[in-house]
Amino acid sequence: MIQISQRVQSLAPSATLVMSQKSAQLKAEGVDVINMSVGEPDFDTPDFIKEAAKKAVDENFSRYTPVAGYMSLRQAVAEKLKRENGFDFRPEQIVVGNGAKQELCNVILACINPGDEVIIPTPAWVSYVEMVKLAEGIPVTVEAGLDSDFKITPSQLKSAITPRTRMLMLNSPSNPTGSVYTREELKALADVLAEYPDVLILADEIYEHISFAGKVASIAENENVRDRVVIINGVSKSYAMTGWRIGYMAGPVEVVKAVTKLQGQYTSGASSIAQKAAEAAYTGPQECLETMRQAFERRRDLIVSLAKEIPGWKVNCPQGAFYLFPDVSSYIGKSDGEREIKSSGDYVMYILEKAHVACVDGAAFCAPGYMRLSYATSDDNIREAMRRIREASVLLK
Ligand code: PMP
Ligand code: GLU
Repeated sequence: MIQISQRVQSLAPSATLVMSQKSAQLKAEGVDVINMSVGEPDFDTPDFIKEAAKKAVDENFSRYTPVAGYMSLRQAVAEKLKRENGFDFRPEQIVVGNGAKQELCNVILACINPGDEVIIPTPAWVSYVEMVKLAEGIPVTVEAGLDSDFKITPSQLKSAITPRTRMLMLNSPSNPTGSVYTREELKALADVLAEYPDVLILADEIYEHISFAGKVASIAENENVRDRVVIINGVSKSYAMTGWRIGYMAGPVEVVKAVTKLQGQYTSGASSIAQKAAEAAYTGPQECLETMRQAFERRRDLIVSLAKEIPGWKVNCPQGAFYLFPDVSSYIGKSDGEREIKSSGDYVMYILEKAHVACVDGAAFCAPGYMRLSYATSDDNIREAMRRIREASVLLK
């Protein structure tokens, strides 16, 4: 009999990817589904990046890459961190891997022992809790609702810290809420953390360039905690390169060494061609960032205004990323005459089946009662999806 490990059995499948596959399957069956489940830019990768990849193929970048990434790419990342964020990271403080996802998981596996507590403000991206479980750590969720724009307060953070706390995972701009911590809010969190030198701060800044509130602040700007911040970022969202799978971590050399050892044993260095493409992204013209950012801001305005027309929905005004995270709990207990909506998950399935719009249940982000819509799609798709959702929702009494 084939045995599957407890480790994997206890892991939840990625709800974002499951919904996206479900939507693709329905589409293949001929159903006109609008996919607002998975979070990825709908833009094509900019041409100058694609050209760099083609050149890398022709120039035979075809061999194993250094485990932590090409030095030229680590250098380009260090320069990016200096140019855009004012940080002095040496290339030796950077590890490139198969997406921000791998680097997040690497840092957790490299730094968390069984029983260590990891604080995760929620709503949180689907993979955070599962990655901590994989490391046999204990995810300690700290809830922030719509009333606080989904952001935790310093006193909430302080009360969650125990002698076993080893890490805080902070994601700003946030997936799934689009919330962005201000510089002052981050300083207040850093002031709490300054008292706990054993807590590593894992700052996931993958949506850094998709902000509607000006330049995004980083918790690493605070000198009192800077030496124990690990920044996570990558090219997936900023440069529309989700499929290229390049992300990085930047942080203390001890963490770099541990992550490199880990990566050397289970994936090796990331794809040579994708790394050369990412290097071009960081060193080439940067106008594409603003073009895409503006499109997302226009769509944010559109979806927020349409969401307000859906009876019973409560929304914030997301300041970044490309997600809307409405409170849809007013539909719980309602029925279309055939079936009762008992949870936000039932509502999401009802919307998929009745309105043919694929979204993700808030429960997957540790926030039952909510749902997530990715608006990284055309304005027409957003209008049509919201029209369908409204029509289906008003049938629920
Ligand atoms: N962090 C967050 C918050 C995300 O939403 C995602 C998903 N794109 C990632 C990390 C991983 O990004 P990638 O692996 O594509 O670089
Ligand atoms: N991060 C994206 C999302 O939340 C991509 C899918 C995933 O890796 O979860 O939809």
